[in-house]
Amino acid sequence: MSEEKKMSLTVKVLLGMVLGIIVGLVINLTGMNSPGGFIDTYIVNGLFHVIGKMFVNALKMLVVPLVFFSLICGVCGIGDIRMLGRVGGKSFALYMMTTAIAIATAILIAASFGIGKGMDQVSDSAFSGKESPPLTQVLIDIIPTNPINAMANGDMLPIIFFAILVGISMLLVGTKARGFVEGAEVANEIMMKMVNIVMSVAPYAVFALIAKAVATLGLGLLASLAGYVSVLVGALMIHLFVTLMIVLKVFSGLNPAMFLKKIRNVQVFAFSTASSNATIPVTMRTVTERFGVNNSVASFTVPFGATINMDGTAIMQGVATVFIANVYGVELGVAGYLTVILMSVLASIGTAGVPGVGLIMLSMVFTQVGLPVEGIGLVLGVDRLMDMIRTAVNVSGDATVSCVVAKSEGKLDTAVYNDPDAGMLDTDEAIHIDSAAEAELARAVQSTHDK
Ligand code: ASP
Repeated sequence: MSEEKKMSLTVKVLLGMVLGIIVGLVINLTGMNSPGGFIDTYIVNGLFHVIGKMFVNALKMLVVPLVFFSLICGVCGIGDIRMLGRVGGKSFALYMMTTAIAIATAILIAASFGIGKGMDQVSDSAFSGKESPPLTQVLIDIIPTNPINAMANGDMLPIIFFAILVGISMLLVGTKARGFVEGAEVANEIMMKMVNIVMSVAPYAVFALIAKAVATLGLGLLASLAGYVSVLVGALMIHLFVTLMIVLKVFSGLNPAMFLKKIRNVQVFAFSTASSNATIPVTMRTVTERFGVNNSVASFTVPFGATINMDGTAIMQGVATVFIANVYGVELGVAGYLTVILMSVLASIGTAGVPGVGLIMLSMVFTQVGLPVEGIGLVLGVDRLMDMIRTAVNVSGDATVSCVVAKSEGKLDTAVYNDPDAGMLDTDEAIHIDSAAEAELARAVQSTHDK
């Protein structure tokens, strides 16, 4: 496979993103997106909407079976069952630590810029808060009363719990469970192939998703909220390029430049879907095949991180809290900000990585520290774009911690990590059918039928 060909999917996805931004901007800035018009009805909310939604559905379709089978394989292939506890403990501690650092940094930066001071409180979008589940309920809900129901709803923590328990029980059953383990391994491989198939259409889907998002965004609002937006984006970038990379280097010794190069694809998926959950298949593939993290670690850390780790979202909460407190002239004080940090970290545990969930968490934080929840209306207009950016930071945090934990357990293949081309996906390769293998499979199926 030539070098140029191997590059193609990543390059195409990035190209899709850039073209999507350009087309979206043209539509938005020329006013072609006027409601009810041809472009708005048939292109933006027709073609782009349908292609984008179909793609996000396809990604979501992969999540539950992929997490389930890869976790079973992960547990069975772990070698030492005590490692499971260590991986769980380490990843939980790192996820919480990075989230706490993220929000503390955000508050410090936002406070030192004094954003929101002197702004008026008029907001044209009404926002009424929704409830985040209380921590006690989050703990109870980790254990599913009905695993099929948890799978049907895509509830990640109970699915993780059940899959781990199935894996452990298979280990306890021992050799008799071998057939089942092998079946799960094959199922996992099939799911991974499916990820490749879905990813092969990503360039077009990413284009549609981003073109639609940019075309419909209130870009005019960006200027009026320039202070909020620039401090937020700045804090997100500092977290991604400085904090996370220091964590990676200090705790694992791995090369941050290589990480940043290979994580780009995952970030584009997170950016266009605004959902850590929908990005799980891509994160999982990248972490295992491009970074060399063993499935026994990645199968746990990736879905776990998509659910409980939200550094980018925490940063938004920190910046938004300072911004709205300043707009309303409320002094939160050190105790208030400490409460914000604690609440955000706790809220991130119980909320899934889906679009817009950050705002729900924010309303919970606001209620706790006595800020007016309707103040969130002020930042609502730019939140979709901010959601896209912070989700890219969220998934980068998931991948960072996966690498750190795997390295510390001796479950990271550094040769794969340091190879810039490892696991690179090529569109043709993704959907390549080996005709000899195809014929062999057909023969095998035929002979079982004939028996
Ligand atoms: N969309 C984010 C995620 O999926 C959550 C949020 O900040 O709203 O990670």
